[in-house]
Amino acid sequence: MSLLRSSRRTSASSRALTATGKLTDTVRSGVAATGASLRTSRDHRGPSGSIRSSPHNGAIKEETNICFSLRAQACGRWPHHPLTVVPPLREATTLAGAVRTAVQGLRKASQPILDLARLAELGGFDIEERELSARRGMQEAMLIPRKPDRFVICVDPEPPGGWAKVDAGVQAPLRRHRMRFRIAHEIGHSFFYSRSGTEPERCVGDSELQEAFCDEFARALLVPEQITARSRVTAAAVWRVHRRFDVSVEVAARALAASWRGRAEVVIWYWRPETATPAWPCTPPIALHRQWANGSGAGADALAEVQRHLCRYASRNRLRSPLAWSVRGGEVACDPGRQQAVFVRGG
Ligand SMILES: [Zn+2]
Repeated sequence: MSLLRSSRRTSASSRALTATGKLTDTVRSGVAATGASLRTSRDHRGPSGSIRSSPHNGAIKEETNICFSLRAQACGRWPHHPLTVVPPLREATTLAGAVRTAVQGLRKASQPILDLARLAELGGFDIEERELSARRGMQEAMLIPRKPDRFVICVDPEPPGGWAKVDAGVQAPLRRHRMRFRIAHEIGHSFFYSRSGTEPERCVGDSELQEAFCDEFARALLVPEQITARSRVTAAAVWRVHRRFDVSVEVAARALAASWRGRAEVVIWYWRPETATPAWPCTPPIALHRQWANGSGAGADALAEVQRHLCRYASRNRLRSPLAWSVRGGEVACDPGRQQAVFVRGG
């Protein structure tokens, strides 16, 4: 019975959506550091008031006519529009822009959201850290509807594999970046609920498409398109966005690569702590592992040369501070403290 009520109300809401949305990039976003990638499907709606399957499940598809009339979003007013289907990914950017404007105002819409407290307060979200067995590959976050018209977002900050695999020096930023991205991702899911003043009711069941939409929403919420659209195609830009917007290097790289729209090869490599300071000649050498790339062959021809260069620095005990150099027509910028190197070629 409640399913039918939910279905009817949200269908009516969807017909009220009008206007056209902005066309944006569609690259899926995630978060990781030191090689510990998030599996973004490891979250969960529920349990209170949640609907594990709904009559809308069969209708989940990309539709090009579901857009947002959110351009004129007022500051201080949460831009909730219940989504009854998963819109095209590009509309996640429009929705994220509306939230940014609501939280920070139009003039500061492209400024970093470094504190999510104001955003959570405005949208009616209570944030909790909770052990969800993420280290064993279980859930990483949950969105729980609550009366009246609120949500609890629970996030397990521990990465898959546990903290033991993460260098002590990067555990704090990794924890923070994971929390920020997961919270933003779960806020994305909240738009698939009807919020009429009582306990939120879910309109759309889980799907990979919805996960991709929420990843894209989270990336655009934390790193605004206005910034990435005017960034130069350089490896240094990835590190700048990472630091300024307090996101993982991977989220920064994905956001910029999406804005560069196929004009650049972008790769993140990482190396493990035990190979960070080898003797020269390197035995074993610094072994770079690919964390993320915007193409299967991106930077492949530069890998050996970058490894040799890093190994040379390490052997002279100079691999301590960030360094950048040109290689194979591209640019490498690495941070030994994070054991990550970014390669960008193109422009
Ligand atoms: Zn999700």
